[in-house]
Amino acid sequence: MLSIPRTLPLLLAAVVTAGCGTVTQQGSSDPARLSAGLVAPKNVPGDPTDHQQATIRKLDSALLDALTAATADARADGVTLVVNSGWRSRAHQQRLFDEAVRTYGSEEEARRYVSTPEASAHVTGDALDIGPTEAAEWLSRHGAAYGLCQVFANEVWHYELATTPGGACPAMLPDSSYRG
Ligand SMILES: [Zn+2]
Repeated sequence: MLSIPRTLPLLLAAVVTAGCGTVTQQGSSDPARLSAGLVAPKNVPGDPTDHQQATIRKLDSALLDALTAATADARADGVTLVVNSGWRSRAHQQRLFDEAVRTYGSEEEARRYVSTPEASAHVTGDALDIGPTEAAEWLSRHGAAYGLCQVFANEVWHYELATTPGGACPAMLPDSSYRG
């Protein structure tokens, strides 16, 4: 049976109070806007506006444009898009695939979850893994307006440019192994 420790409300009150204390600096409105989710903090891994990061910078330019537009519109809705993974080197993709082979026991099974470097759209800079969940949900509702589509039914976070902006997304493949 679950029971909530009696100290929890006190702990929560302490956290909230400490949080408020960080945004009261005079002359600085940014922390307050940050806490409201209106501005993506800089130098955060996966910040779609931070082109210093290779995972963002090496994306296909049309995909990067679509991501930039979607990020701004999501922010206006109070949702922060984070790129958990964008461009990947062949070596990185190979490591991910090798790991998946160990996890799932065969190359055939692993390909349902992780593509080989030859097949991966991440290696060519043509794919985005978006988080957190509410951001992926936002993109599933609005992505087609930017040409961004979920392409694998078992990967709600994985997006590619797969239609013209405002068009209809193609039917999803069951998983990444269907791409070969
Ligand atoms: Zn992906």
